[in-house]
Amino acid sequence: MAYIPFYNKYRPQTFDEVVGQEAVITTLKNSIKDNKISHAYLFCGPRGTGKTTMARIFAKALNCEKGQGTQCNECSNCKSITIGDHPDVIEIDAASNSSVESVRDLIENVAYQPIKSKYKIYIIDEVHNMSNAAFNALLKTLEEPPDFVIFILATTEPQKIIPTILSRVQRFDFEKISNNLLIKNMENILKKENVKYDENSLKTIASLSDGGVRDSLSLLDQLVSYAGNSITVEDVNKLFGLMSIENELKIIDYIEKKDIQNIFQLLRDKVNTGIDIIKLHQDLIDIYKDLLLFRVTNNPNFLEMIDSNIAANFPISNTQLSYYIDQLVIAKREYKNTDNLLSHLQITLLKLTDSISPVEQKKEKVINEPKLISEPSPVNVNTESKTFTPSTHIEEKIKYTKEDVISILNLCNSKEFVDKRVELSNNWSNIKGDGKSEFISILIKNSHLRAFANNILLVTSLLDDQVNTLQKISNQPLIKEVIKSSFNNEYNLLCISYSEFKECYTIFSTKVKNKETISSNINIQFDQLSKRDEFMKEILDD
Ligand SMILES: [Zn+2]
Repeated sequence: MAYIPFYNKYRPQTFDEVVGQEAVITTLKNSIKDNKISHAYLFCGPRGTGKTTMARIFAKALNCEKGQGTQCNECSNCKSITIGDHPDVIEIDAASNSSVESVRDLIENVAYQPIKSKYKIYIIDEVHNMSNAAFNALLKTLEEPPDFVIFILATTEPQKIIPTILSRVQRFDFEKISNNLLIKNMENILKKENVKYDENSLKTIASLSDGGVRDSLSLLDQLVSYAGNSITVEDVNKLFGLMSIENELKIIDYIEKKDIQNIFQLLRDKVNTGIDIIKLHQDLIDIYKDLLLFRVTNNPNFLEMIDSNIAANFPISNTQLSYYIDQLVIAKREYKNTDNLLSHLQITLLKLTDSISPVEQKKEKVINEPKLISEPSPVNVNTESKTFTPSTHIEEKIKYTKEDVISILNLCNSKEFVDKRVELSNNWSNIKGDGKSEFISILIKNSHLRAFANNILLVTSLLDDQVNTLQKISNQPLIKEVIKSSFNNEYNLLCISYSEFKECYTIFSTKVKNKETISSNINIQFDQLSKRDEFMKEILDD
């Protein structure tokens, strides 16, 4: 026997079997009970939420031989509606090429009495795809339909339906199905199919289905044919290229610990197995959303990705969680503008590890710049953010002074160094490393080349963590290795923070007469950076 996909095999045949859409069902049932049947309905909603299924069940309820309102599924009307050959229940797919023809046929035949039932029901799917000519033809019929004719129009894009049609229909909005309902539905099916499953496998499929029953069941179909009669979350992850929730939580933990090395290692290992990076990005947003919701409400029922035990294990502040979510949501929009998805995700996570949220930055600013405040500053300034916890293991860093930086800026005015800097700048994107050095190479690549003199590359970064890592003595051999293999030359790298650079540059430029010459020889672009600051401010003000 041919294999029947779950979606067809378990398609609901009565109102009571439908997953979700309670409001729609109640209204349709009542309209039959109260005999207030309209001549035209519009079913709107996302794909796979049961619009056509509902239209067929409604058609049964109108035409069942056992009485209006029932869907016995035994009488000849019910049976032929189920298999789709009822002469009075006509389905038209407006997305098909011949919709004008179909609508013309429809209009020519609309006046004829139904053949074997009370109502003649036209179900027009994807009605927004109808041509204007077809729409106009339909409109004429909708103006004065015969008593026995009922139209059910279905669409995923109600905004494309012309107002003259909209004004003549009774509209129903179908909602996305909640993950819990999708899971319950899958559980029922798997029990009937004698397939064993773990809870997390269904949770993951539900999260991939975006509220669509059809999508959830077609994913389930694929999974069962892949894994056989026992499915696990590992099967789901493997089949659909997903990272496990355990690994995603590891990333979140590493972000808290600012453990960039382990984040990058984990990503690299998983990307080699073909994970879906954009899905991973969305999962991180959803996990942070869960953590924030749980902190605010303490209600485990709102959790979709993780359970309350796990949620309680991440004591991240609300401000910090909102900051992470904002950053990830903004970064997600940028995937369409980048060729290298992995690199974009890496940079985004790097930014998250630089974890002073704008709100805390603002606090710090207020403390540092009391002169800017016209009102008298409070006496008890909160110094919490300045508390220093001594580490038992302090790694040696490159030692340098402001004078060192200024002398590099002085030297790099010579033509030789300017040319070299331009050349390096142009080839900056070629920086690469592999294995152990890949992590360092990404940090170097994402720093900003400012000046070059005496074989020293002066770079800046906005991220404290990036600066610290690139300044560590223990990392210098790897840094040199990356630079040598990328530029075929042995240069030293001096990475300083953006603010430090700005400060040094200001001191330096006050001593120089010809400012224009300088600004062209050193990569200043302060404007570009202040745009980022503005951007941070925007998030803060939201
Ligand atoms: Zn029946």
